[in-house]
Amino acid sequence: MDKKKTSIPIDLLRKYDRPGPRYTSYPTVPVWSNEVGSESYMQALQNASVNEDEAFAIYCHIPFCECRCYYCGCNTVITKNSDKVRLYIDTMKQEITNTAKHLKNRKLVNQLHFGGGTPTYLTIEQFNEILDTLENCFNFVEGCEKSIEIDPRVTTNEQIKALVNRGFNRISMGVQDFDNDVQIAIGRIQPFELVEKKVNFCKSLNFEGVNIDLIYGLPKQTIESFTDTLKKAITLHPDRVALYSFAYLPSVKANQMKIIESELPVTEDKYKLFALAVELFTEAGYIQIGMDHFALPKDELSIAQNDGRLHRNFMGYTVQASPEMVGFGMSSIGYIDNSFFQSHPTLSKYMDTVEQNEFAVFRGMKLNEDDLIRQYVINSLMCNFQLQFSDFYKKFNIQYHDYFHKEHKELSEFFVDNFLDAPNGGLKITEVGRTFIRNIAMVFDAYLNKESDGKKPTFSRTI
Ligand code: SF4
Repeated sequence: MDKKKTSIPIDLLRKYDRPGPRYTSYPTVPVWSNEVGSESYMQALQNASVNEDEAFAIYCHIPFCECRCYYCGCNTVITKNSDKVRLYIDTMKQEITNTAKHLKNRKLVNQLHFGGGTPTYLTIEQFNEILDTLENCFNFVEGCEKSIEIDPRVTTNEQIKALVNRGFNRISMGVQDFDNDVQIAIGRIQPFELVEKKVNFCKSLNFEGVNIDLIYGLPKQTIESFTDTLKKAITLHPDRVALYSFAYLPSVKANQMKIIESELPVTEDKYKLFALAVELFTEAGYIQIGMDHFALPKDELSIAQNDGRLHRNFMGYTVQASPEMVGFGMSSIGYIDNSFFQSHPTLSKYMDTVEQNEFAVFRGMKLNEDDLIRQYVINSLMCNFQLQFSDFYKKFNIQYHDYFHKEHKELSEFFVDNFLDAPNGGLKITEVGRTFIRNIAMVFDAYLNKESDGKKPTFSRTI
């Protein structure tokens, strides 16, 4: 295994840590419009229905959890009410059928992802009901990527086996941190041995990828404790690791009020935790994917990134080329006919709307030509750490330097700090620059300094 390690100077983390989007989409969610609703979505589905040979992705959101972790920033519903869950499943099935009706003969699906919440909150039978409905409505192509997020504390081996039987080939486990003090501070106790058993069980089955998620910046995390967590994570030999920055926003997420602010690492220490993770994972042979993901060199994400054909959507990084995605469930996001759509984030509003045979879309955005051009540039840089000017010209019939004259000048500080190279008619992000990819992408964002409704959108910090 390659033992090269990437060290990130702390003074650069300090210099570039500022509020900024994560660019899971461009344009970013805060600039989407509340004027976009069910009618526009129906039109978009109909427009998209003519591309019968093009496969798309599906995201299903299962919002339920048994209890709320203190750090959680997801759209969840904490309940033990089985009637509520029953109604949600029925609503989702109705939404799937209704969507398929509008997509007519557009049926090919190349990626399926279940997220939450906790998707395995559902029983095997309930889960199969949703899968049956999806399979009745759409055609999953050979080799379709089927992935799911699981909580190792509540997911049984029977459920995992059932997933394999239904063709699931990638599984991600929420770990966050292995340290007992940190786990107490975040209200999520899951000993290393429990995760290790689940990971090994998954590896004994036919999954192509067994992945884990970690978070840095949590209360009680120290360099020593996080070093231990990272080393334990590496011994599990996951195919991919997602390393998220903890965003402490108790005024927006009331559950985070249970976190003791004075136990959070100070900003400088948070940088060190991040730098440590990059160093240990790269030293262990992992390839940094985007800013905050790591994958084994043999993983298809690493290979695709190296070949410059990695893509990204709301479900994460992917090798699937189609940008189109249909979302099911409350708060789910889709991208179809060059437009983003998001469903109501509350259970009652989502269910009431779908029951009336409408789509529960409450905001979205139709991209114009400038949006599509900037989306391409930002995605190329975020995913593949490069932009080839000749590819850009081929796609849009525009010279990069003519269109981005002003932006290119703004990149000069990144050249000085050795984040960027300009080899043979393109831009290339250096190893160190990978960590600052959000800052670089921000140069190409046309909305960042514009105000919407008199307010600037708020973003988490880039590091
Ligand atoms: S299990 Fe995940 S989604 Fe559920 S409360 Fe905890 S962090 Fe949030």
